[in-house]
Amino acid sequence: MPGNDSQWFTEACKEGGSAFSLMIREKLHDEQSKYQRIEVYATETFGNLMVIDGFVMLTARDNFLYHEMMSHPALFTHPDPRRIVIIGGGDCGTLREVLKHEEVAHALQVEIDERVTRISEQHFPELCVSNDDPRAEFFFGDGIQWMRDASDASVDVIIIDSTDPIGPAEGLFTEAFYLECQRVLGEHGVLVQQSESPLYHMGIINPMRKAMQRAGFSDIQTLFFPQPVYPSGWWSATMAGKQELATAFRAAAAKNKPFPTEYYNAAIHHAASTAPEFFHRALD
Ligand code: SAM
Repeated sequence: MPGNDSQWFTEACKEGGSAFSLMIREKLHDEQSKYQRIEVYATETFGNLMVIDGFVMLTARDNFLYHEMMSHPALFTHPDPRRIVIIGGGDCGTLREVLKHEEVAHALQVEIDERVTRISEQHFPELCVSNDDPRAEFFFGDGIQWMRDASDASVDVIIIDSTDPIGPAEGLFTEAFYLECQRVLGEHGVLVQQSESPLYHMGIINPMRKAMQRAGFSDIQTLFFPQPVYPSGWWSATMAGKQELATAFRAAAAKNKPFPTEYYNAAIHHAASTAPEFFHRALD
């Protein structure tokens, strides 16, 4: 049975009253960076596992679900996604997916903790295969301050690939931050943010959507997808647009995408943006 012995890594989720465990082969890395504790384990069945402050960030086996859903829906919704900014995302998996889009001219990753990226290069090289792409740029600093300093209408898609809304990520879930994003996004700008579990975290998703609306985004769409290693196994990303998102979706381009994915396709895009009944009720 799972427990906190040397054989298992367990993340308990208090608000869900649940826990998720992975069988561990060995600990590969453990450090306290300036911002957080970063651990990497080799698991028996999920490949390498990254943990930040005790919370599962990703595993080699199932990160494709999250990284593809954090990038492709937003990029296939913007009419011409050339200038992309990723806030957080230090493991570089979202960056890799973004750079699969040929029309992307520049993708900037703004990660507060350089150590997350350096550790990923070492233990998750498959996520970092596009780090040397000439279109990729890295800035190590606070995403909130970066957004304050950015010029008006200078970005097409903002992807907020952050940790949970505690510590340095707390300010990324606020109206003040979304107002800055709204200013920095160009005419057809799209923002997408990881938005926790629809089963456990409506108390985060609901205020987040309302804050996006108050910040002036005219359409908000939450996408639902499985994520086995996150609490409840069911996760979400919320898109906010300056225009209606469903009609802006470039379905033909998604259907004929010239690059491979493991999860995302045009039909998944439609399915993921269809909200369950309880979700509609919870938003009332
Ligand atoms: N998929 C993951 C999850 O939801 O569990 C998130 C992965 S990624 C490793 C999250 C990153 O956000 C971390 O590396 C963290 O350092 C970064 N981060 C948190 N707050 C930030 C901020 N204010 N500015 C920039 N990066 C931030």
